[in-house]
Amino acid sequence: MSRLMRSSQPDLHRREQGSTVSQLERGSCTPAARAVDLSMTYGKGDAVVRALDGVSVEFKRGAFTAVMGPSGSGKSTLMHCLAGLDAPTAGRAFVGDQEIERLDDAGLTALRRDQIGFVFQSFNLVPTLTAGENITLPVDLAGAEIDRGWFDYLVEALGIADRLSHRPSEMSGGQQQRVACARALIRRPELIFADEPTGNLDSSSSAELLEFLRRSVSEHGQSIVMVTHDPRGAAYADRVVFLADGRVVGELASPTADVVVAQMMKLGG
Ligand code: ADP
Repeated sequence: MSRLMRSSQPDLHRREQGSTVSQLERGSCTPAARAVDLSMTYGKGDAVVRALDGVSVEFKRGAFTAVMGPSGSGKSTLMHCLAGLDAPTAGRAFVGDQEIERLDDAGLTALRRDQIGFVFQSFNLVPTLTAGENITLPVDLAGAEIDRGWFDYLVEALGIADRLSHRPSEMSGGQQQRVACARALIRRPELIFADEPTGNLDSSSSAELLEFLRRSVSEHGQSIVMVTHDPRGAAYADRVVFLADGRVVGELASPTADVVVAQMMKLGG
């Protein structure tokens, strides 16, 4: 509980006291997340769909990684397995040095609550709560204290400070998306998965959100894995991992939009 009582300075959680720091220090060489020969099949017999087909990939701590690939290539399934939202059919998924499969229900709940932020494609906001209440929901559920300085920083940086008393139905898709981002970040999880976080935004809001995510990595030491279809969005990342047919088929370091487009054409995406 006390590890959420942070200074009003919206600053590095790497410098904080307590368990988060020791976890980070202990695991500083460990990737933020990794998949080892991860497979996921849906259905049986002729109807079987191999959503992931032996994926091994590492996502570095303190890095911004984009995941790209054609629709149906397994991007969301990979993120869901790594976030402990889906159980793979085979293989192993790790967050830090914790193997997800080995966690019991309470451990899995704590992992998802304390260490992972997830921005869903469909926002998953609670319709009866205001934007402000949606953002603080993970803190309230954890029975923790809200860090007002961090809350204020997030809503300012995401441009939703004047929307906090609105319910989701009273907000645009872009505003809801930004509320969903603030909610994912409110507990300063070390690892954030974002499934097409700019999918509902116009190009200027999209650039603002991507710059915000970039700063979360560069200035706040967050680790982000983001699914995107947009080569310009991928160019904000440190690295792009390409999936096709449930497999990793390529990757790029320090991507530019042009190089991403060229790579997508090469891969037939
Ligand atoms: P992407 O995110 O790259 O679009 P997904 O991970 O959503 O791909 O899906 C990969 C494949 O798995 C697709 O063929 C999709 O139809 C299938 N799939 C995903 N979820 C389910 C499910 N719950 N039941 C059956 N098939 C699924």
